[in-house]
Amino acid sequence: MYRVGIDLGGTNIAAGVVRDDGVIMCKDSVPTQRERTYREIIKDMATLTMEVVKKSGVGIENIKSIGVGSPGTPDCKDGVIVYNNNLNFRNVPIRAIMQEYIDLPVYVDNDANCAALAESVAGAAKGTGSSVTITLGTGIGSGIIIDGKAYSGFNCAGAELGHTVIIYDGEQCTCGRKGCWEVYASATALIRQTKRAAEQNPDSAINSLVEGDMSKIDAKTAFDAAKMGDQIGQNVVNQYIRYIGEGIINVINIFMPEVLVIGGGVCKEGEFLLKPLRDIVKEGVYSKEEIPQTQIKTAQMGNDAGIVGAAMLQI
Ligand SMILES: [Zn+2]
Repeated sequence: MYRVGIDLGGTNIAAGVVRDDGVIMCKDSVPTQRERTYREIIKDMATLTMEVVKKSGVGIENIKSIGVGSPGTPDCKDGVIVYNNNLNFRNVPIRAIMQEYIDLPVYVDNDANCAALAESVAGAAKGTGSSVTITLGTGIGSGIIIDGKAYSGFNCAGAELGHTVIIYDGEQCTCGRKGCWEVYASATALIRQTKRAAEQNPDSAINSLVEGDMSKIDAKTAFDAAKMGDQIGQNVVNQYIRYIGEGIINVINIFMPEVLVIGGGVCKEGEFLLKPLRDIVKEGVYSKEEIPQTQIKTAQMGNDAGIVGAAMLQI
């Protein structure tokens, strides 16, 4: 059988016909044009669904369900997006409106859970029953897969691993607390840490890499400086990996997933990131190595994660 996965983003709506093993048979996208009403946007989602099904040659009778992954807070039970700041959605009944056009089961969840499902079915955690995927981006996205299903609490609002505190009374988080993991380990946090180090150390390679223009500092700059042998860059990287590690140790101590997947631009650093991270985690986890340990891997699904993960949604 096949399913349709829809990745509803602020810029594009992408949809694909996906086989049970996570292979995309056919996909396409249209601009979201988010200034429109939600009814217009959802109508486009339905039209795009019919188009990709037609192009795939699979036939609508072989489509089991439609899944929609969206940023924001979902009500998975009723298929509603309760809140999505990016699209200005408030209590948008995606399932009900989609079903006005297509008579199939429609599932709705957030994009972090979809990314985790995609990695679990076809990516870095393929073949495992339990995994946790964290995405280090503007914030920290996180999805917990237990027995092949995304777990986010009785009301779908949990699994917010980025908002667990790693430093008591630490830096202010957007959620209202202080010292959350994402204030230290997101890509945004790394950029902030790199800027701070550059300001305090004007002679570092960080400054020369961006020609003294702090606005050019991105999540790669400190890694690039470190690779050039710059001690200040190396210090930023070491500290940043320590922050990622502290959060991961918490996650492993609670969930002990078979695989912990790290996504986001920073995973392009590969072993330069993973090797020290594995050492920190090995040192810190409660359960020591006499029994099998969680493997830490980088995400593999890239831009297809949204479509594949959404397609895998089920109640
Ligand atoms: Zn927070």
